[in-house]
Amino acid sequence: MENLFTIWIKVFNRFCYDSCIMIYITVYYPFFKRLGAFLVLLALAFPASGQQFSVIALGCNGGITDNNLSAWLIKPADCQRYLLLDAGSLTHGIDKACANGLLSGFPVDGSRSPLDWTLKEGIEACLISHPHFDHFAGLVAVSPDDVPKPVYGSPSTLLLLQKHVFNNAVWANFSDQGESPRIGKYRFVEIFEKCPTRVGDQGVVVTEFPLSHGGMRSSAFLLNHCNNYMLYFGDTGADVKESSSLLRDVWQEVAPLIAKQVLEIVVIEVSYPAPRPDNLLFGHLTPSLLAGEIQNLTELIPGEHPEKKLEKVLFVITHVKPVAGRSNTLIIENQLKSLHIPGFRFVMAGQGMLYSNDILELK
Ligand SMILES: [Zn+2]
Ligand SMILES: [Zn+2]
Repeated sequence: MENLFTIWIKVFNRFCYDSCIMIYITVYYPFFKRLGAFLVLLALAFPASGQQFSVIALGCNGGITDNNLSAWLIKPADCQRYLLLDAGSLTHGIDKACANGLLSGFPVDGSRSPLDWTLKEGIEACLISHPHFDHFAGLVAVSPDDVPKPVYGSPSTLLLLQKHVFNNAVWANFSDQGESPRIGKYRFVEIFEKCPTRVGDQGVVVTEFPLSHGGMRSSAFLLNHCNNYMLYFGDTGADVKESSSLLRDVWQEVAPLIAKQVLEIVVIEVSYPAPRPDNLLFGHLTPSLLAGEIQNLTELIPGEHPEKKLEKVLFVITHVKPVAGRSNTLIIENQLKSLHIPGFRFVMAGQGMLYSNDILELK
């Protein structure tokens, strides 16, 4: 329950973050100086909730279609450049996002192609959730035309990419590690689990969480910018199927953020419709398995009416695997709707589309 005090703090807080005018006035007018310092401290203690992450799906299938595999452009509203989360398919998704007018900063004078501008100006750094090709093939394909940039991942992800992809046999070694000669265009930077790491130069801090993906170690990335958060999952199975508690570890971390209404978006996979035999899950989720996980999350959200807090989060469902060339997106969407998961607000990802949480507004 919000009282007048917390509402006032949020209003002031947003004012400070958006314009800094109040800080300027209070610092430079001696009469208000002490009061100003006190208010600034209050603003820092109660983070703003008005900021929004922009999330663009460059690729959102989990297979079959080689022009629509997992790749996401993500940036906080006040940042200039994107982070690329996974890199399954880049070219087609970038063209679609550009045609939809979504590439912030892209020159409209026709001087650059969308791919050229995005690689050289738009993307600041890459994060790779795991080394499966449907999350990395796009970066391999564009590597000769790309410019130097850091590639972040868990130590095991980066080691596998270095040993089995950038090894001067499967592909030239565009990384700065492993087999010589090294072209060194991609600077591999390890991020360690549950260790907040500053990524790029725009103040985004990423925390990596390990996931169990049918025997492969995958990653979830929690992005924090000015105490606003979004959560991106690489491929993952359900704890109950993976004999794991790794998803529960992630839920425990973000449940308090949901209670504080600072977690804006969760991008998470649902690969197959239900039912799906265990031996054909391959470390993925179905609608019913995701429902079980959302129930686990809801139970961890502190305070009364946790489902009301959960409603503020937008879940973007991705990595649907087409079968025999046919999309399962509508089937999965209908199954998720029919499960009536309390507080669960979701949208199915579409290639070249922008997602931001407009509901999580100051109130
Ligand atoms: Zn995948
Ligand atoms: Zn995978």
